[in-house]
Amino acid sequence: MKIPFSPPFVNEEIIAEVVDTLKSGWITTGPKVKLLEKEVTELTGCPEALGVNSWTSGAILVLKWFGVKAGDEVIIPAYTYSATALSVLHCGATPVMVDVLEDFTIDPVKLKAAITPRTKVVMPVDFAGLMCNYEAINEIIKDADIIKMFSPDSEKQSQLGRILVLSDAAHSIGAKFKGIQSGCATDITIFSFHAVKNVTTAEGGMICINLPESFDNADEYKLMRLWSLNGQTKDAFTKSLAGGWKYDILFAGLKVNMPDLCAAMGLGQIRMYHQLMAERNAIAKNYEQFFAARDWAFCPLLEDEQRTSCNHLYALRIKGITEDQRDQMIEFITGQGVAVNVHFIPMPMLTVFKELGYRMEDYPQAYKNYSAEISLPIYPQLTEEEVAYICAVVEQAYKNIA
Ligand SMILES: *Cc1c(COP(=O)(O)O)cnc(C)c1O
Repeated sequence: MKIPFSPPFVNEEIIAEVVDTLKSGWITTGPKVKLLEKEVTELTGCPEALGVNSWTSGAILVLKWFGVKAGDEVIIPAYTYSATALSVLHCGATPVMVDVLEDFTIDPVKLKAAITPRTKVVMPVDFAGLMCNYEAINEIIKDADIIKMFSPDSEKQSQLGRILVLSDAAHSIGAKFKGIQSGCATDITIFSFHAVKNVTTAEGGMICINLPESFDNADEYKLMRLWSLNGQTKDAFTKSLAGGWKYDILFAGLKVNMPDLCAAMGLGQIRMYHQLMAERNAIAKNYEQFFAARDWAFCPLLEDEQRTSCNHLYALRIKGITEDQRDQMIEFITGQGVAVNVHFIPMPMLTVFKELGYRMEDYPQAYKNYSAEISLPIYPQLTEEEVAYICAVVEQAYKNIA
């Protein structure tokens, strides 16, 4: 059997939606992006959503919108995809990495300890589709002593008057924290619609804007949209209308808008997302049924009293093994035709961050999680036979090294 890790979900409706765009005469940012933004606000309940061309560019946009620059600090977990940190570096600011909990999410105690007068943003990551402890995080940034420490030096920072919580929700569309959908749990949430994510536009991202009362979310949507389109007063669609040729460039914006062609694919997916997510959930339950009965396996948390995962990844861990043994297991599993992955190589192990002085020894839980982790395939097209085969192969891999 050959089982890929995460092939995109494409059915006839999705193809028809993309073809419709191709035939419409309009392929870049226009009506389909608007429709996808509307679908996201309806799914999540967040007031405004802005389509962009990736999570990464969306994060850079939001950090720039907030005025984050050299000398500022942004707190992130050490255990995430490197884009979380790179977006901060691209603004000239310093990513301050903190360790994670056993459940892979950022440790709120360590997050609090890392706050300094230079901290402008905290960026928690909803690993595998399990949201962070936002109750604790929101409480920390609204704490009177923490607010006193905050020193705003941009208009938006003064308007907020405290640290911004920007969720890296690349994995968590459809997840819930205390009944609140991902997209509404913090000030700003960004989804990734990259090819392997739960909802995909091939490449893309969505910025969910849920700022407190000192902001008008619709105004911030308009401003961020300008940020995504070179700071230009008229988008290409408006300019294409009769008499619409005149425009102005208001500031040095980015060029990170989502094309309609991509949004079309996302529309086809998001309209059936509840079904797609239910299929992911069923696969996660199947894995759990098998691995929970094995004393060597450590199953990921799918839900607790506060959180419900949307099962973007199935991050299995093997108890008591070394990084080397995990690698051996992966070699065997791959040899049996099953594509697996590791999420993630903690950032302090990667060259760019090592050269900046980050040290893996400072993040022991992140290393522990990483060295025992194997991400198993999880996607709607996966059959029960395939899941059973994957389980058997993983068990055999464990027996080989045990
Ligand atoms: C995929 C991913 C990103 C980056 O998303 P892009 O849309 O590819 O920019 C960021 N953070 C995490 C945790 C991711 O998994």
